[in-house]
Amino acid sequence: TSLFAAVEMAPRDPILGLNEQFNADTNPNKVNLGVGVYFDENGKLPLLKCVAQAEKQMMEAPTARGYLPIDGIAAYDKAVQGLVFGADSAAVKEGRVATVQGIGGTGGLKIGADFLKRLNPNAKVLISDPSWENHRALFTNAGFTVDTYPYYDAAKKGVNFDAMLAGLKAAPAGTVVVLHACCHNPTGYDITPAQWAQVVDAVKAAKLVPFLDMAYQGFGEGIKEDGAVIEQFMAAGLDFFVSTSFSKSFSLYGERVGALSVVCESKDEAARVLSQLKIVIRTNYSNPPTHGAQVVATVLNTPALRTLWEEELAGMRVRIKEMRTLLVEKLKAAGIKQDMSFITSQKGMFSYSGLSKDQMQRLRSEFGIYGVDSGRICVAALNKKNIDAVVSAIAKVS
Ligand code: PMP
Repeated sequence: TSLFAAVEMAPRDPILGLNEQFNADTNPNKVNLGVGVYFDENGKLPLLKCVAQAEKQMMEAPTARGYLPIDGIAAYDKAVQGLVFGADSAAVKEGRVATVQGIGGTGGLKIGADFLKRLNPNAKVLISDPSWENHRALFTNAGFTVDTYPYYDAAKKGVNFDAMLAGLKAAPAGTVVVLHACCHNPTGYDITPAQWAQVVDAVKAAKLVPFLDMAYQGFGEGIKEDGAVIEQFMAAGLDFFVSTSFSKSFSLYGERVGALSVVCESKDEAARVLSQLKIVIRTNYSNPPTHGAQVVATVLNTPALRTLWEEELAGMRVRIKEMRTLLVEKLKAAGIKQDMSFITSQKGMFSYSGLSKDQMQRLRSEFGIYGVDSGRICVAALNKKNIDAVVSAIAKVS
């Protein structure tokens, strides 16, 4: 019998599986609101101008592709620190932050997870209920037991903050808490700065290990505004982890550009942590790829390109907000009785629409409108051409 005779078929990724189904659908009016990807007003995946210009600049002075250092391009890591912690961050200046280039935000999370497992093998991990599905899988795969803290309140159409806080306070010391820094995936509901202050206090009092997942910096309210939560953790004097993704903010999904930053108590500690992060990287994939990080570093470190990027990112952010407003208006005009204005209180690419699994399945089979069974739709995939089809379909299943 063959070596692989007993291998079972793994379930397919629910969201990527939806994509395959969408591609096979012959409905000419089909709309894909499943995946977390930003499309422009023409329904196209954008190539940002700042990226194209950086690439042109790079092509004009082509370089050989040697191995990068294990922790990545130094100018890239520095730029990530500037973005995440602010240009004047005292901790960065004091050398207390260890930052490594990662393979997307997922790679940043994975490096952190593997390091944490070696640091504290018996710790548990808490993720929000619900969370990005890969959080559970990734931390489980790193050897952790993963549990949840309360987050979404379906009845209230928001965050059950009291329950969230109680969940955090009840966690044993050393528990790793994965927090969405902004633009919560999948619900779109973020907590307020005042609530963040309470989370910071709770995390500190219970001696938890905060791991902030920052996959959408700039998609909520702005680069600085979305990064303000990091400042709160910093001000509390906590040691914490931040994963960064540039997949969405640079529309560089396929280049896999991300990072992991670990805030430590001292420069000496950061140097030791960095040395361990490098072992994790070395034993997994040796060292990171060059192109995407070089593009991002070029943009972030060239003032004119940086300005252009900030404008283009603002353009994406504003367009998503416009689509939220338009969706609420059009759903109302289509006769939906329920107040749908919660959609405009959500941040980032996603909206928990409140639609049931049954309704989501009908949207798919009867109208070619593809969203996730949980009711999650990607608002960043709506545009003025497809929104009417989406609204009329929702009205018909409501
Ligand atoms: N965290 C969250 C919350 C995400 O939504 C995503 C992307 N879907 C990631 C991390 C991973 O980002 P990347 O594609 O850069 O690995």
